Amino acid sequence: MTVIFDQGENFAFSVPIVVIGAGACGSVAALAAHGAGAQVLVLERDPVPRGNTALSGGQIPAGGTRLQKAAGIEDSPEILEADILAKSKNQCDPSIAKAVALAARDTVNWLVEDVRLPLSCIDDFQYPGHSRMHMHASPSRFGAELMDVLTHRLAEREIDLLTSATVVALHASRDGRILGVRIERPDGSTEDLGCEVLILACNGYGGNKALVQRHIPAMTKAHYHGHPGNMGDAIIWGEALGASIKDLGAYQGHGAVCTPHMVHLGWPVFTEGGFQVNGEGRRFSNENAGYSEQAMKVLQQPHGLAWAIWDERCQKIAAQMHSHVEAMDRGAIRRFEKVGDMATFIGCEASTLQRTIEDTAAIAAGEAKCPWGRNFGSFPPLAAPYYCAKITGALFHTQGGLEVDASARVLRKDGSAFPNLFAGGGAARGVSGPSDWGYMSGSGLMMAVNLGRLAGEAAAAQVQSSSGA
Ligand SMILES: Cc1cc2nc3c(=O)[nH]c(=O)nc-3n(C[C@H](O)[C@H](O)[C@H](O)COP(=O)(O)OP(=O)(O)OC[C@H]3O[C@@H](n4cnc5c(N)ncnc54)[C@H](O)[C@@H]3O)c2cc1C
Repeated sequence: MTVIFDQGENFAFSVPIVVIGAGACGSVAALAAHGAGAQVLVLERDPVPRGNTALSGGQIPAGGTRLQKAAGIEDSPEILEADILAKSKNQCDPSIAKAVALAARDTVNWLVEDVRLPLSCIDDFQYPGHSRMHMHASPSRFGAELMDVLTHRLAEREIDLLTSATVVALHASRDGRILGVRIERPDGSTEDLGCEVLILACNGYGGNKALVQRHIPAMTKAHYHGHPGNMGDAIIWGEALGASIKDLGAYQGHGAVCTPHMVHLGWPVFTEGGFQVNGEGRRFSNENAGYSEQAMKVLQQPHGLAWAIWDERCQKIAAQMHSHVEAMDRGAIRRFEKVGDMATFIGCEASTLQRTIEDTAAIAAGEAKCPWGRNFGSFPPLAAPYYCAKITGALFHTQGGLEVDASARVLRKDGSAFPNLFAGGGAARGVSGPSDWGYMSGSGLMMAVNLGRLAGEAAAAQVQSSSGA
């Protein structure tokens, strides 16, 4: 991945807007740019666009959408913005938190009404860090369903999508103007093509072990649960161009990936009152502070393992999530009538596990204080039969990236914007602050669809104003 500094080739072929990556960010950017009347070409490394988007739970937060109003959920962009800032402990860029929270309402309305994504409100559980029911998701709670619709819309609207086309280099002038891109095909052949505006939608660097080791050393040995094609190309190009790159230590982890099956539990297991124990059958954390930071808490247990325990009530809600159903189908989730049998599965003393269950029930009933500060809210203590799964912590995606402004324009180190370069989704700096604890549930797709739409609209306006249209 390089930047070729030249004065502008005589490209055989040139398009007004090029988008690199056909995940949620790239597809949404292309749909928005096309909707605003611009010609756009999407370049995708894979033969079929999937990305992290197709692996995700497909849940998109927003505040004040028409779907929320119809569902009787009182919410607003301001509430979403406050939640983002609180989760990041005010360590994200507040102007981006504001821009994204404000854009989210219109983006979800547009995704539903224009792009016809089959979204509905999640109104029976609330993620940690969400003070309202912000989440919108498709029926299967699975990003592949969203990805299929987005790809279908690109085709239906005759938006050019070139697959099996890895962008291996950018052409740029020394002042940072992007002139074009170089594509490599699976047979090793290359082509150069010019563009007036470039949108980087090629996610972060979770699939690049060397970059993970450099920026998030604590997660080097952890399982990477995201898409392998996300190799950090945007930040590699950004570094060469002199872009401002921030929060590279930030990431979304997940503290309940079943092992050895490597499929994650639906988080309602914990929001509804489930908990985790280590190999001794003892709790070790506030499991519901956030699924991201829980990854490291699990990895810090002996052998990086823990066991999740929940009951039928939690199970019913978690089983709405595609990944949870997959975990059941793969035999990762076990059901126990007796605590002793569950202790045998875990490999701990039955008396210790029994004590943990009783102590946790007392905390949930408000009769004792949680040593880790967890508030079980109004959920009743767990009741037999119990569900249990052996879990580990994993890296889902990285959150650091190219600093952008409120129109998704990439910024230089001095704060000025590059003339024709945009970024969104995992390619851009997220709103999670510097580490793992600042990730608010749904921030990944929130940054993908909102910065994608803003970038697409701004790119279209730019090419139209330069052509005098
Ligand atoms: C298991 C899992 C569950 C998740 N659940 C949720 C959730 O419910 N809600 C949420 O908000 N977030 C979730 N996330 C995070 C979310 O999936 C991502 O943040 C989001 O999909 C990022 O979208 P994107 O378009 O930036 O990247 P992607 O969807 O990964 O798309 C990037 C695309 O760029 C392509 N690409 C990369 N480099 C190049 C190149 N050089 N040339 C051409 N193409 C290239 C890739 O092949 C890929 O198709 C989850 C993540 C995982 C792993």
